[in-house]
Amino acid sequence: LYSTTKQNTLYNSYELHEQLGQGKFSTVYRGINKQTLAEFAIKVIDKRSVSIYEKELLRSEISILRLLRHPNVIYLKEIINTKETLYISMELVKGGELYDLILTEKIFSEIHANKIITQLIKTVAYLHKCGIIHRDIKPENILLTDKSKDAQIKLTDFGLSTLCAPNELLTDPCGTLAYVAPEVITLQGYNHKIDTWSIGVILYLLLSGKLPFPINKNTELDVNKYYVLNFKEPIWKRVSTSAKNFISRLLEVDVQKRISASEALEHIWIKNPTAVINENSYIYKNEEINILNLQD
Ligand code: ATP
Repeated sequence: LYSTTKQNTLYNSYELHEQLGQGKFSTVYRGINKQTLAEFAIKVIDKRSVSIYEKELLRSEISILRLLRHPNVIYLKEIINTKETLYISMELVKGGELYDLILTEKIFSEIHANKIITQLIKTVAYLHKCGIIHRDIKPENILLTDKSKDAQIKLTDFGLSTLCAPNELLTDPCGTLAYVAPEVITLQGYNHKIDTWSIGVILYLLLSGKLPFPINKNTELDVNKYYVLNFKEPIWKRVSTSAKNFISRLLEVDVQKRISASEALEHIWIKNPTAVINENSYIYKNEEINILNLQD
């Protein structure tokens, strides 16, 4: 099933330390390579508890990650396959998920948001150049190297990612509802531009503390009526016109008109942010965030 290394037990090569997290069918530990003393994250998967579908996702994730080499994509070091357990050693990332940072920060300054989104756009432009669509870009799948404002991002969870030829249209449903592009929901066929839509959702969330299109059980997803953007709320007053323009270009329902990741690299908000973002761009205090009523 998976390529197997010569040494067939993990413990020949690594010492396992504390648990870092848990996924649906995996537990992730900090591991130290016994020879080099380098630290890694070791994903441990009990093969007996993985369904055929999940095995397929894993197989696809591993083969795609092996193709990729980018400073902002999680680096897969080696796979150790034993009878009952699959071990995946990968680059250790110490700053947690962007999701958790959003829960603590609530609203990001425009400069901070720009640092994160610029890295994300560059990473996704690289993926698309390689013919790969991630298909599940969301804050839970973006890890940070540390907790500082200059942290590097590492895109992870390539389980739903796929290869896509330049003019191909895919139809299989994928992604996470709040971040997924409308053309996935309407089943009209989609391409790499679903990833740029998801980046738009994340940028909107970072700058305002809210999802642009919150979806719950009662939401009627009439695509023409539902995905209408407006920046009328007070929080948007302090955001630059360029940022709002950039969000509108990413969250464009018409796929033909929507900006691609490589075009986004040329947008002024990415290309020359210091020219358009006020250096002292406003940082909200906690009490102001409460007034803005983010729970809505
Ligand atoms: P699910 O399997 O439900 O989709 P998941 O994708 O988060 O969840 P894993 O990729 O197995 O599952 O990761 C589980 C947790 O382990 C993550 O939430 C994260 O906290 C931690 N983790 C995963 N990869 C790394 C890494 N490279 N460095 C540091 N921590 C990591």
